[in-house]
Amino acid sequence: MEECIFCEIVKSEIPCYKVYEDEKTLAFLDINPVNVGHTLVMPKNHVPKIALAEEDDLLALTKTLKKVVKGVEKSMGVDNLNVFVNQGRDAGQLIPHLHYHIVPRYAGDGVKFDVPQRKLSEGEFKDVVEKIRSAIEML
Ligand code: AMP
Ligand code: ZN
Repeated sequence: MEECIFCEIVKSEIPCYKVYEDEKTLAFLDINPVNVGHTLVMPKNHVPKIALAEEDDLLALTKTLKKVVKGVEKSMGVDNLNVFVNQGRDAGQLIPHLHYHIVPRYAGDGVKFDVPQRKLSEGEFKDVVEKIRSAIEML
């Protein structure tokens, strides 16, 4: 496996501003925060994306996500957050080790996630819903 900077953080080979750790997960401050308090939450096991993650890692990750979200809300005094995962290079993933971003948000903070909103026809919605439903059924 190629060197993964987040695996190196797990192994304490490079430092991080750790906010929480347990057996399966680690949370630390993003080194280039979108806003103050921007925190990353990840499984310790290296996995690039959700679909490849072990169920117990995902369960642990979700529990830690809730804990850290509450910690960020309380400590930063914020009610508004973006919580997201970039998955794959085309989705903006720079570090190929699954991680959630927790970004505190404030009125007028100038942060813009440039999200286009497309229009789909009834037929296109029906086609897409059918494709995704049957893919899920076949898992
Ligand atoms: P992504 O584009 O979702 O892969 O996000 C990677 C994030 O990791 C970026 O927001 C970076 O600022 C952050 N990052 C990169 N290296 C480090 C590091 N050594 N410690 C903390 N955060 C980092
Ligand atoms: Zn890794």
